[in-house]
Amino acid sequence: MELLHNAVRAYAWGSRTAIAELLGREVPAPHPEAELWMGAHPGDPSRVVRPDGSRSLLELLAEDPDGQLGARCAGRWGSRLPFLLKVLAADEPLSLQAHPSAAQAAAGFAAEESAGVPMDSSVRNYKDPSAKPELICALTEFHALAGFRAPERTVALLRSLEAPDFTPYTELLAAQPDESGLRALFTTLITLPQTALDALLPQVLDACVLHVKERGEFDLECRTILELGEAYPGDAGVLAAMLLNRLVLRPGEAIHLPPGNLHAYLHGTGVEILANSDNVLRCGLTPKHVDVPELLRVLDFTCGDMPVQTGSETSPGLWTYRTPSPEFELSRLELTAGDEVRVDHDGPQVLLVTQGCARMSNASGQSLVVARGQSVWLPAADPAVTVTADEPTRLFRATAGSG
Ligand SMILES: [Zn+2]
Repeated sequence: MELLHNAVRAYAWGSRTAIAELLGREVPAPHPEAELWMGAHPGDPSRVVRPDGSRSLLELLAEDPDGQLGARCAGRWGSRLPFLLKVLAADEPLSLQAHPSAAQAAAGFAAEESAGVPMDSSVRNYKDPSAKPELICALTEFHALAGFRAPERTVALLRSLEAPDFTPYTELLAAQPDESGLRALFTTLITLPQTALDALLPQVLDACVLHVKERGEFDLECRTILELGEAYPGDAGVLAAMLLNRLVLRPGEAIHLPPGNLHAYLHGTGVEILANSDNVLRCGLTPKHVDVPELLRVLDFTCGDMPVQTGSETSPGLWTYRTPSPEFELSRLELTAGDEVRVDHDGPQVLLVTQGCARMSNASGQSLVVARGQSVWLPAADPAVTVTADEPTRLFRATAGSG
């Protein structure tokens, strides 16, 4: 049981307050802080804090995979921690993106390796041969675009906008309101020549302004299109975003983003768990490289409402978010004053306190007081811990998945 010292990633879309506040530092931070990383990602591994100095978790895993990860986890993933836990704080929208499946990532990585595309090239899609499913759980109200909306609803949205030049596209979907129709419309929009985009987008944005002014049914969707259109003029991703579910998650609610799901986080703070991979295929809302043919190969056009989870109580106070992803599992531990709960697992665990304060002790006689914003590494060799709270306390637990 060891406290973790974690890296903060300073991307431009980050918040100057959310992560600094969580860590008890001065607010606002001098620059935007986007992500707090807890895990053993080679780009920024956490360090375990010891009396004689701190050690990189990545090095500890390499030295003793069985003791740190346990036989089951090490047997499946080698000396790699299969998940990365993050606090993600977005003040501005992230890029529109999807992630490959394990098979697509392995094939894509091998193809780019044999073609000799340098790892740091701006056109490199696959940084590693792994899938990158994700789950995001809201800490504050969290706004996102994710998954293709039911085509009938998208047709209703598009028809409610009075943008005459867009009508042929709307009717394309109306004539085939299913996954194939969505694929056809999406492919058409994402491959429009820039001149066509430059003519079409202002008309769509004007129609959104009118819709918002008249307090139309799709007010929230249109406000988002306007925000994205302003930030990324001439970007086909703005049109693609019109086809996606516009979600508002309340604290504790989570969505799982399986391979091929098109999504963009817009605003808010959340706890994210993801497979330890960097494979991102971008679709727009970014100045970065967009590889349209590869994106089309990976995208899943399954449509309808995104399932929103609140977790199911798998043991007293422990709410688990179920996903089919074998790389990770996220649970939320809710304690009231005086509660004492034993947390155990057959593999390594990361515990993060997001509210209150947790006292932790284990069978080896170790004890720790873990404040809000702090996190703890529990190796597989000594995974069980008793958590006690003197006030309402919330923790998140990351483990490898059971699949
Ligand atoms: Zn993503």
